[in-house]
Amino acid sequence: MADALQNLIPDADRPQWRDYSRCVHCGLCLNACPTFRLLGEEMDSPRGRIYQIAQADAGRMPLAEAAPFLDRCLDCRACETACPSGVEYGKILEAARAQLAREVKPGLWRRLLAKHLYDQVLPSHAGLKTYAALLRLAQTLGLDRLAEKFPAVNPFGLNQALRLAPRLSPRPFWPAWGKTYPAQGPRHARVGLLAGCMQNVASAELSWATLRVLQRNGCEVVVAQEQTCCGALHVHAGRREKARQLARRNIQAFAALECDAYISHTAGCGASLKEYGHLLASDAQWSEAARQFAEKVRDISEFLVELGPLAPGLGSLPVTVTYQDPCHLAHAQRIRSAPRQLLAAIPGLELIEMARPDQCCGSAGVYNLLQPELAGRLGREKLESAAQTRARWLVTANPGCQLQLAALLRQAGSPQPVLHVVEVLDRAYRGGSIHKA
Ligand code: SF4
Ligand code: SF4
Repeated sequence: MADALQNLIPDADRPQWRDYSRCVHCGLCLNACPTFRLLGEEMDSPRGRIYQIAQADAGRMPLAEAAPFLDRCLDCRACETACPSGVEYGKILEAARAQLAREVKPGLWRRLLAKHLYDQVLPSHAGLKTYAALLRLAQTLGLDRLAEKFPAVNPFGLNQALRLAPRLSPRPFWPAWGKTYPAQGPRHARVGLLAGCMQNVASAELSWATLRVLQRNGCEVVVAQEQTCCGALHVHAGRREKARQLARRNIQAFAALECDAYISHTAGCGASLKEYGHLLASDAQWSEAARQFAEKVRDISEFLVELGPLAPGLGSLPVTVTYQDPCHLAHAQRIRSAPRQLLAAIPGLELIEMARPDQCCGSAGVYNLLQPELAGRLGREKLESAAQTRARWLVTANPGCQLQLAALLRQAGSPQPVLHVVEVLDRAYRGGSIHKA
C-alpha cells in the first residue's frame, strides 16, 4: 500500500507536505539545534528551515534562497529527538537537498569536483587507493605540518583536508573483502560486515577491531566482496539517484549470504543503511528487498548488546573515559545506552559523563570540510566538555567523530586518544592494561 502511494507521487525526491506540515512551529527544537545555538538566527534553526522549505514548496520563494541555511544544517537530527510532534526533519532536509541539487547548478569547478568525489572516489577502491597514496605522500613530505602552520593558505580546501586527515593505517581493510572469518567458540550468529568506503583506509584499525570483537563473541563474519559505499554522503548531498544505485549493489552483495544481521561500526552509514527501505520505496522492483535488508542492519554496539552478555575474556582497563554520542547513533538510530553498557562491562574502566554528550561535534560527514568555521567551533566546544570530566580517553562510536576530534586535539597539541567503543573492547579482549593502549 505504501509503495502504491509512493508511486502516485510525481517526484518523491522533494519535500512532501505530509512531512513538513507536521511542524506546528512550537520552537521546542530550537535549543537542541547547534546552528541556532551558535548563530542565533531563526532561519538557521529547524523551525526556520522547515518554514523556508514549506514556503518554497508552496511556490512563494525559490528554494535556492534557502540554500545557505540548508547548507549550514549539520543533518545531525538533534531536532528530531527534541520534537514532540514527531517531525522527521532528516527526511525533509534530505529531500530538499535533492531538489536543490537538481535545480541549482553550482559553478563548473564545484560540479566536476563533486561528481568526481561522489561518483568516482567514494564507490571505487581504485579512487580511494589513489587518494590514500597521495595523502601518505603528502604526510611523508610534511605537507600536513605545513598546513597546520599556515591555516589561512587553503587553496581548494586542501589545507583543511590535510589538517583533518588521519595518519593512515599501514594495514588497510580491503584484504578482508571477499573472506569469511570463523566464530571463536560456539557460533551464535552469522553476520555481514558493512565495510564502507573511506573507513578501509582512514579507520582500518577500527574495522579490524570490529572483526575481532565479533569473532570473539561467537560470530562468523562475512565481508562481502561486491559491497560498496553505503551512499550516506550522497543522500546528505542530495544525490539520491547515485545513493539508490549503491543501495541496490549492497542489497545484492549480501542477498545470497544468509546472514542474521548486517553490522556497521559507522553511525552515519548505519542510519542510512537502515533507511534503504525509504530510499527505494518508490522502486517497485527493489522496495521489498530494501525493506528486508534494512531490517537486518545493526550498529555494532546495538548488536553486541542484543546478542547477550559479552563473551568472557575482557582484561582489566583501569582508565577513566568519557563518551560522546554520535548524532546518527543517538538521534537518527536512537541508540544511547548500548555503547555505555559495553563500556560498563569492561573491568576497571570508569565512565564519566560529559555535559551535552549528544551535541554534534561538527564532523557531520563532510561538513567539517564545507563549513570549517562552524565545525571547528562545535568540535572545540565538545573537547571543552570532555576536558571538564578530566577523563583520560575520549570515546565515541563513529569514525567520523573520531577523526574530527582527533584532528582538533592534534591541532591543540594534546596527546589524548579518541577511541571507538569497539576499539576499547578490543583492547580489553587483547589483554587490557592501559600500557598496551
Ligand atoms: S520541528 Fe517539531 S519541535 Fe521544532 S518547531 Fe516544528 S513541531 Fe516544534
Ligand atoms: S539537523 Fe541539527 S543542525 Fe540541522 S536543524 Fe536539526 S538540530 Fe539544527
